[in-house]
Amino acid sequence: MAKAVFLDRDETLNPDPGYIHDPELFNLFPWVASELKKLKDAGFMLIVVSNQSGIGRGLIREASLRAIHEKCDALLTEAAGIKIDSYEFCPHRPDENCDCRKPNPKLITESLRKFSIDPSQSYMIGDRASDFEAGTRAGLKQSFQIPSGSEEAFKKAVAEILESGSR
Ligand SMILES: [Mg+2]
Ligand SMILES: [Zn+2]
Repeated sequence: MAKAVFLDRDETLNPDPGYIHDPELFNLFPWVASELKKLKDAGFMLIVVSNQSGIGRGLIREASLRAIHEKCDALLTEAAGIKIDSYEFCPHRPDENCDCRKPNPKLITESLRKFSIDPSQSYMIGDRASDFEAGTRAGLKQSFQIPSGSEEAFKKAVAEILESGSR
C-alpha cells in the first residue's frame, strides 16, 4: 500500500493574504520545496487537502484554483524536481454544512481509498486545529499542528515523520 503525507495549503505551504484567487498571489514558503522532496524521496505521496470556501463565496473561480495549483507544482518542480500528487479541496462555505470541509476527514478518507493509501503509515501537517482534527479522525498515524508559517515547526514535523516512518 502507498503511504502519504497530507498537507494543509494556506499558511502551511504558502503565505495566505486571504482568498488567493490569482496565481500571481501564490508563492511557497522558501523552505517548503526541499522539505517536501525529503518526504517524496522517502516514498510518501504528497496530497494537499484544503478548505477553499472562496469558491463557494464566489471569490475564487475553479479554473483559477487549478491555475494556482499548477503554479505550485511549477515552483516545486523548479526548486526540487517534485510535484504534489493530488490537490483535494472543499469548495463549500461553512454555512453549507458540507461533509468535506475540515475538520471533517472526508478529503483525507476519500484519498486513502482512491490511492490505496495505508492510514497507519500516513501523516497530516497543518496550521489549524481543524487540520489536526481531520487527520486524527481519518485515522492517520500522526497529525502535526504547527504555528502558521513556521519554518522551524514545519521542518521538525518532517524530521519526525522521516524518523518515525523509518522505524
Ligand atoms: Mg492553513
Ligand atoms: Zn465541502
